[in-house]
Amino acid sequence: MKNRADSMLADLKRAGLKLTPQRIAIVREIADDLTHPTAQALFERLRTTFPTMSFATVYNTLDALAGCGLMGKLALGPDSRAVRFDPNTEVHHHAVCDGCGSVVDIPVETDEPAVLPLAATLKGFRVLREERTYRGLCDRCSRS
Ligand SMILES: [Zn+2]
Ligand SMILES: [Zn+2]
Repeated sequence: MKNRADSMLADLKRAGLKLTPQRIAIVREIADDLTHPTAQALFERLRTTFPTMSFATVYNTLDALAGCGLMGKLALGPDSRAVRFDPNTEVHHHAVCDGCGSVVDIPVETDEPAVLPLAATLKGFRVLREERTYRGLCDRCSRS
């Protein structure tokens, strides 16, 4: 069975991006990472193995994956450095901890968006998907 990294690499190649050793390493690093890391966090992890890798390479590769629909992009703050990347491309919601900044996936039972409240306020607006962010404190932060 193929793992997530392999299928993401195949998709990336199909999208016309050259699979350089650095890009392959970036994909392998994020493919099974469900912590929604920032490009900066991935860059710091990869730099130990790839001392010549630049932040731009990491960010642009993740951004290209997002542009092809192979990666979710989560802007949780106004700072572009705070953009979190998400290898889970299924429709899902997020729980964000205001204490430590951790982000956890919340699966949804149906990817049918709840159109009723919007239809009443935004005439003619067609809902394509619904992404909710729940803010609060994770288990660890609410104990301390
Ligand atoms: Zn927390
Ligand atoms: Zn997610």
